[in-house]
Amino acid sequence: MRAVISAGSNMEDSRAHLARVAAEFAPDLVAASSVYATAPWGGVDQRDFLNQTFIITLDDAPSAPRELLARCQRLEREAGRVRDVRWGPRTLDVDIVGIEGVTSDDPVLTLPHPRAAQRAFVLVPWLEIDPDAKLGGETVAGLVDKLGPLEGEQEVRRL
Ligand code: AMP
Repeated sequence: MRAVISAGSNMEDSRAHLARVAAEFAPDLVAASSVYATAPWGGVDQRDFLNQTFIITLDDAPSAPRELLARCQRLEREAGRVRDVRWGPRTLDVDIVGIEGVTSDDPVLTLPHPRAAQRAFVLVPWLEIDPDAKLGGETVAGLVDKLGPLEGEQEVRRL
């Protein structure tokens, strides 16, 4: 089965942080999006984020989703994750957007990710690498249309 990962960084060398995520998932990689510069969410004054989305293959063992979460969290730790302010700057955030065929309302691992459908910085890079992508029964293309004009907090620029 496949999983979709979203990574973001707006501290230190963000390109290097994203490159480490790409290296971690290289053995399982189906596709990596371009890097996008995106406006920060939540009104905290901070620099733009760099975001990237990855599609990877995952074995279908029952433990695979939790193991994937552990890999994502290890990457965050290795980046020396700092995050003092909710919605504030962060060295590296690595989220599981979704895993094919898996839904979960467990707060430790909610699938699909509960906020992905409203975030242009997740949906737009994902659409680039999978024009037929679906999230929770809706097409990602349709979800992007629903967001309306991609301005302000939803601004995304392909680099
Ligand atoms: P965040 O602020 O996005 O880094 O949230 C991290 C917390 O969200 C961790 O405690 C995770 O266990 C939890 N979480 C729930 N669902 C997910 C998901 N789909 N991907 C990543 N973290 C998740």
